Amino acid sequence: MLLSIVIPCFNEEESLDELYLRLRKVLEENGLNYRLIFVDDGSTDKTIQKLIELRSGDKRVRVLELSRNFGHQAALCAGLDHSGGDAVIMMDADLQHPPELIPELISKWKEGHEIVYTIRKDPPGTSLFKRKTASCFYRLINLLARINIPENSADFRLLDKKVVDEFMRIKERTRFLRGLIRWVGFRQCPVCYEAAPRFAGRSKYTLWRMIRLAFDGITSFSTFPLHLATFFGSFISILGFAYALYALYVRLFTGRALPGWASMVVTVLFLGGIQLLCLGIIGEYIGRIYTESKFRPLYVLRNIYAEYAEAAIKAQAVSMAKAENRSLGGFK
Ligand code: UDP
Ligand code: MG
Repeated sequence: MLLSIVIPCFNEEESLDELYLRLRKVLEENGLNYRLIFVDDGSTDKTIQKLIELRSGDKRVRVLELSRNFGHQAALCAGLDHSGGDAVIMMDADLQHPPELIPELISKWKEGHEIVYTIRKDPPGTSLFKRKTASCFYRLINLLARINIPENSADFRLLDKKVVDEFMRIKERTRFLRGLIRWVGFRQCPVCYEAAPRFAGRSKYTLWRMIRLAFDGITSFSTFPLHLATFFGSFISILGFAYALYALYVRLFTGRALPGWASMVVTVLFLGGIQLLCLGIIGEYIGRIYTESKFRPLYVLRNIYAEYAEAAIKAQAVSMAKAENRSLGGFK
C-alpha cells in the first residue's frame, strides 16, 4: 500500500522541518509506505529552498513549485494531480493538522470508508469573530445548496484512489473542495481532532480571502441567490399594488391628498438598492461563467522535483546529445 500526502505551503519556512520530522516519525512507526508531495504556492520566503533540501535528503519527498501564488485550493489540486498511490491525505503545513491523526484516518479507510474527513475543534485563542462567521457560513451554504457540509470541517482528509480519480475529472476552475468532497459521494466518515495553534507564522487567510472563499462556495453550489431577484421583484410589485389601491381609496373616499415626498424618496431609494443588489448577484454569476469559459489551467508549474521529472529531463538531455552527435556526424 502506498500513501501520498499532499501539503500546500505558502511562506511556511519555519514549520517545514518540524512537520517533516513529525510526519516521518508517525509514518515510520506505523510501517507505512509513503510519499510526501509539497506544493510551494509562490512563497516569497525560503520555503522552496527548504523543500529542495528535504528532497535531497529523502527521495520520498516530491516538490512542486508553482510559478506564483495561486491560492490554497489550486495548490491542493496541483498536489492531487501529482499524487498517485492507493490513498491520498491532504493536510496543512502549519501543523494545525496533527500528523499523529494519520493512523486513525488510515484505520477508518481500511474499514471501507472511501473518504475520511476531519472535524476541527478550534484551538484555544481562535477569535469569537472567526468562529461565528464560520458557523454562519456553513449554515448559509447548507441551507442554500443542500449539500450538507459538516460545520468546522477542515481541509485535512483522506481520499481513496477511486475518489482522487473522480476528482481529477472535475473540470471546474473555481474549486471549493469542502463542497466538492460532499458532492462526489462515496462512503464518508468523520474523525474529530483538536486543532493546535499555528506552529509559526500567521494565517494566510485574511478576512477578504475568507469572504472570497465563502462566495466561491455559495455560487459554485447554489443558484438560489439568482432567484432572489424574482423574489424581491414579486414582493415589491405586490407592495406597490397594495399601495396604489390605498392611494386610490384615499383620493376617492376621503378627499385628502396623500403627503407624498418622503414616501417617494424612500421608495425610489429602496427600489434602486434592490435593483443594484440583484444586478450585483447576477454579475457574480456572469463573472464566474467568464472565468470558467476561458479554460485557463488551474495552476502553472515552474519546476517539478520528482523522480519522473528528473528522469524526463535526463531522457531529453540524452536525446538532445544524441541528436547533436548525429547532426555533427552528418556535417563532418
Ligand atoms: N496556503 C497556500 N496558499 C495560499 C494560502 C495558504 O498554499 O494562498 C496554505 C498554507 O501554507 C497552509 C494552508 O494553506 O499550509 C492553510 O492556510 P492557513 O494555515 O494560513 O489557513 P488557516 O488555517 O488560518 O485557515
Ligand atoms: Mg492554518
